[in-house]
Amino acid sequence: MNTPHLTGCFLTTLVALLPACQIADNGEDTPGQVNEQKYLESSLKIAHTLKGRSDGKGYDLVFVADGFTQDEMVHFNEAVNNYRTFSEQYESVFAGQQNAWNIHLIQIPSNESGVDEPQTGTLKDTAFDSSFECEWVDRIICVNQEKVLDVVSEHFPQYDTILVLANSTRNGGASLGNNIITSSMNPNLNNIIIHELGHDLANLGDEYTYGGVNLPATEPSQPNLTLNNDADSVKWKHWFEDENASPINIYEGGNYFQSGVWRPTENSVMRTLGQPFEAVNLEAWSLALYKHSGTYYQALPDTGSVNQTGPEQQFEIELALGHELQTIEWRVNDVLVQTIPPNLLTVSDQNQSYVVQANIVDNSQVIRKDNRQVSQDTLTWWVSLD
Ligand SMILES: [Zn+2]
Repeated sequence: MNTPHLTGCFLTTLVALLPACQIADNGEDTPGQVNEQKYLESSLKIAHTLKGRSDGKGYDLVFVADGFTQDEMVHFNEAVNNYRTFSEQYESVFAGQQNAWNIHLIQIPSNESGVDEPQTGTLKDTAFDSSFECEWVDRIICVNQEKVLDVVSEHFPQYDTILVLANSTRNGGASLGNNIITSSMNPNLNNIIIHELGHDLANLGDEYTYGGVNLPATEPSQPNLTLNNDADSVKWKHWFEDENASPINIYEGGNYFQSGVWRPTENSVMRTLGQPFEAVNLEAWSLALYKHSGTYYQALPDTGSVNQTGPEQQFEIELALGHELQTIEWRVNDVLVQTIPPNLLTVSDQNQSYVVQANIVDNSQVIRKDNRQVSQDTLTWWVSLD
């Protein structure tokens, strides 16, 4: 039996799920080259935004350093930059979703380097008190959550997920609740973050099996787990007609149980680190991003009544994901209008009131069923002339 890798697990409460967590470690990542000069400048600021926006729109991922001295902060910086590059390439659709992701860093130097390891009497004076062997499990890393939340709330109150990176190469981590995930600086870090975000963002369940005891009494809410193995009614049956999604089927085992629970693919990122998402999980991830960020961030002017004062009127939409994955259909008085650039419409030559509509739709090809219609919007302006 493999040693449990708790770091890949979703622990809503630490105690309840401890025996149930295991992720195969395939050691895929190769650490990037250290370019200390490149990260030196940014590593000197206590809090800064690496990419994206700071106004709360989009998904805000905050990386927090613990157990890094000032001199070591470049390594924290490098790890976050590595994740950024990795996350842009992990699935082809991820590149087009980058506009929805904001990455922030908190880099408070610790007085001492490393992480507490109580069993060997190793205790370090670090900014957020990271410690292995939490709850008597070797690989669980706990932190002082109150301190973490205080500091993150001060600098990035818009946070969605907080990732505390503890400065140790020993394998470990946990999902602690309160939107806090911990991980050591182990070689699988990038894959672990993706897996954990699968839980946090997309409500995906673990697809691996590991000594589950009590079957869920009711149908799991996770889109990738089910108690129903009937092909005519299984929750991902809308993928069966698609030849491109051929690996989708009904596979027994998941949610820590060998039997009685089913998953959509033989393998996926929610079963083994380093695997692709696969269609059902990718659809859930993409829908969750829309649900979180909306289809657009801003419309100018505001939708609703508009009083046009000049000879022409401009309409502009700032899309949440962007043109790579989203299409806008503009209509003036129900007549379709093509625009360049696609998010900008200029109307002129109108001599009476008119109506402008913009239909925003997803064209990523990874969403096949959107019951709540989170991936589409219709914006309307009623324009009167002065
Ligand atoms: Zn997990």
